[in-house]
Amino acid sequence: MRSVLVIGAGVGGIAVAARLAQQGCQVTVLEKNEMPGGRCGVMIKDGYRFDTGATLYLMPELYTQTFNDLGERLEDHLELMRVDPTYHIHFADGSKLALTSDLVTMRAQLEAFEPGSFQGFLRYLDEGYQHYKQALPNLVQRDFRSGLEFFNPSNLLRFIQLKALVNHQRNLGNYFNDPRLKIAFSFQNMYMGLNPFEAPAIYSLMQYTEFADGIWYPMGGMYSIVEALVKIAEKWGVRFLYKNPVKQINIDGNTATGITLESGKQIDADTIITNADLPYAYSQLLPDSGENKRLEHKKYGCSALIFYWGLDRRYPQLSAHNLLMAANYRKSFDPIYEDLGLPDDPNIYVHVPTRLDTSLAPVGHDTLMIAIPCGHIDETSPQNWSMIQLNARQTVLNRLSSIGVSDISDHINFELSNNPYDWQTRYNLTKGSTHGLSHNLMQMGYMRPHNRHARYHNLYFVGASTHPGTGIPCVLVSARQVAERVMEETGVPVQRPVFKPTLIT
Ligand SMILES: Cc1cc2nc3c(=O)[nH]c(=O)nc-3n(C[C@H](O)[C@H](O)[C@H](O)COP(=O)(O)OP(=O)(O)OC[C@H]3O[C@@H](n4cnc5c(N)ncnc54)[C@H](O)[C@@H]3O)c2cc1C
Repeated sequence: MRSVLVIGAGVGGIAVAARLAQQGCQVTVLEKNEMPGGRCGVMIKDGYRFDTGATLYLMPELYTQTFNDLGERLEDHLELMRVDPTYHIHFADGSKLALTSDLVTMRAQLEAFEPGSFQGFLRYLDEGYQHYKQALPNLVQRDFRSGLEFFNPSNLLRFIQLKALVNHQRNLGNYFNDPRLKIAFSFQNMYMGLNPFEAPAIYSLMQYTEFADGIWYPMGGMYSIVEALVKIAEKWGVRFLYKNPVKQINIDGNTATGITLESGKQIDADTIITNADLPYAYSQLLPDSGENKRLEHKKYGCSALIFYWGLDRRYPQLSAHNLLMAANYRKSFDPIYEDLGLPDDPNIYVHVPTRLDTSLAPVGHDTLMIAIPCGHIDETSPQNWSMIQLNARQTVLNRLSSIGVSDISDHINFELSNNPYDWQTRYNLTKGSTHGLSHNLMQMGYMRPHNRHARYHNLYFVGASTHPGTGIPCVLVSARQVAERVMEETGVPVQRPVFKPTLIT
């Protein structure tokens, strides 16, 4: 039986472990923390339950694919609720927009902002659909193993068709004139850790999937996904060992032979998979090969300051996903991406999961998660994150007050928080970047670090900083690609249960 060690129990680590155990491998997952989930984590305190990272269940078909491949029906594990309207956007001038898939409501709102813009919206969605339809099978779900698979005339043509070389913000000018609408259809780039003013227009696929496939919420919170995947993995025989930080990957010639734990214990295996952030794995777990220097100079996505508040009352004026946009949207990104700090007037995301599932707080109370994109850690000139965080907290209170939530500071039972140093320490994320390696054009597809090590052929990478990229749906694809490749290289074809596709209604 082939033995497999997975370093890290993030979503990617759990999913690849489950897939390989299902194929008959003997799989052990070594996780440094006391629990699984990584960036899709949970914190529970005094009856309040917070998802610490991911809050949006997007691209549902990729979740369904994972459960079905594992011989399970998603609906037997997760109770999904569609969130519509998805976001309530509060612009700095006091105007509001609720993004919804209800076209009649959407038309009324858009036409009030800019006459004729509803037609622009429909054209924009159509473009997003073309991008999604093409990118999913040809770029996301395909692991490019040779340069030729990627750099060929048909792919080049595809890049042009998918507007990979066109700036997303500028492209929005083809559909909308009102700057607020350009904001409403570009802020999603931040999920990739990208500056909307630098992101390629191919990412209109995100807006398409949010409107067409929906944003969902698993009852109990996003951590339910982790719990479900761990349960399935354990059913297939995966062993999870928590509080077992890996110190190094052991190498003999061109082969990874196993790992050494911080405790000094060595474990050998036929295959090693690292789910720990790829740049961290190269710089801390592997012998110096020059690759870590190269990775240091790559572009990293932004980080995030997060406040988790347990409130002693409810604020019905806040919906599940609220966005409080900066007065100067354009200028709100340079302090993050150029100066690696925080703008004075940032874009703020306020998530109120109790609007979707009241069991996440004591009766009559609200659970709040507030996220503010900020720069990643600057090793050459370290930022004072405690001070930045303190200022950001006041900014959040002021901004909430401007939309009528004025007394919230009197109702915070307790506060927890994360800043870039916390992300770095807790999950070993290089530079504390919450999204890992950036998704700019030069770090996509074949140009993104590969799922298999170039020299040690039994060493693989799964997760946000490898192919295809960040966000849980992409990480699930990464797990599928790695599991398939491991099995392919052991000469045993992947066995899959035959499943009728699950339709979410
Ligand atoms: C604030 C925030 C909001 C987000 N919002 C969304 C969202 O709404 N929707 C969405 O789809 N995605 C979202 N994401 C992105 C998504 O959460 C991540 O892309 C995904 O969870 C990453 O999973 P992963 O498997 O790559 O790795 P990780 O979650 O990074 O897991 C890696 C694991 O490896 C462990 N590890 C590290 N080093 C070692 C070691 N030496 N030994 C043992 N274990 C080790 C870590 O502790 C961790 O558990 C968000 C992320 C953040 C941070």
